[in-house]
Amino acid sequence: MTTHTLKGKTALVTGSTSGIGLGIAKSLAQQGANIVLNGFGDHAGPQAEVAALGVQTAYHGADMSKASEIEAMMKFAAEKFGGVDILVNNAGIQHVANVEDFPIERWDAIIAINLSSAFHTSRLALPYMKQQNWGRIINVASVHGLVGSAQKSAYVAAKHGIVGLTKVTALETASTGVTCNAICPGWVLTPLVQKQVDAKALTLKISNEEATKMLLGEKEPSMQFTTPEELGELAVFFCSKAAQNVRGVAWNMDGGWTAK
Ligand code: NAD
Repeated sequence: MTTHTLKGKTALVTGSTSGIGLGIAKSLAQQGANIVLNGFGDHAGPQAEVAALGVQTAYHGADMSKASEIEAMMKFAAEKFGGVDILVNNAGIQHVANVEDFPIERWDAIIAINLSSAFHTSRLALPYMKQQNWGRIINVASVHGLVGSAQKSAYVAAKHGIVGLTKVTALETASTGVTCNAICPGWVLTPLVQKQVDAKALTLKISNEEATKMLLGEKEPSMQFTTPEELGELAVFFCSKAAQNVRGVAWNMDGGWTAK
């Protein structure tokens, strides 16, 4: 639903050239927020999709594993739109291996992109938000911020870490108009998860459809994927006036994964 409740606000969504980030960017744009996109791969297509919703857009290709590039992106957003009112820390990667086999370089990359980047964007966004006495920080964590799964040590550590960062940021802003919350999706069928379906199909020599069913069946009682659009609507709720006292939550949308 388009009501333009966020007209005049600027949202920066990291990792918004694909999947969940693009879904959240579009939901915020449907409410009238200007959008700064970020992420790898083709950005012209996603930027055009968001601009078609009638808002101003900009793109910065900062690598979220590099603090200096994150600083440049935040400066770019401030120069372009005056400041970032809504920060969505979404960029993330995955790697699957047992702890003893986990490549050190993959561990470092996952911690940098999935966790440390949110510290850098938040520390750079907060002064403007506090000065405006309005701001929303939304950290895209995961069910893996609440529970573990074998072979995902770096991912689970980073996601538990970002849930912790969410709580501390929420406490430090608790008496202001700035809120910080986390979203914890279960399975969402994006390129990140499609790779895991493909790997399962290949290893077990089963069809893509069987691998998808198996993936869902292992974890989600609903047997359904959550969609980027549903997560976008949750982000819009966190930005609403009704959510002004929702602070420091880790809100799962996971088809019952963590209810078991
Ligand atoms: P995706 O692969 O579709 O999108 C990831 C985005 O991050 C892309 O835009 C990519 O270009 C960007 N990105 C990757 N590395 C980057 C870097 N170094 N610098 C800048 N951008 C970078 O994945 P997705 O499934 O949409 O995941 C988005 C977020 O949601 C991640 O944090 C992920 O952990 C989380 N999540 C996903 C699922 C799921 O089932 N897909 C579930 C829970 C949480």
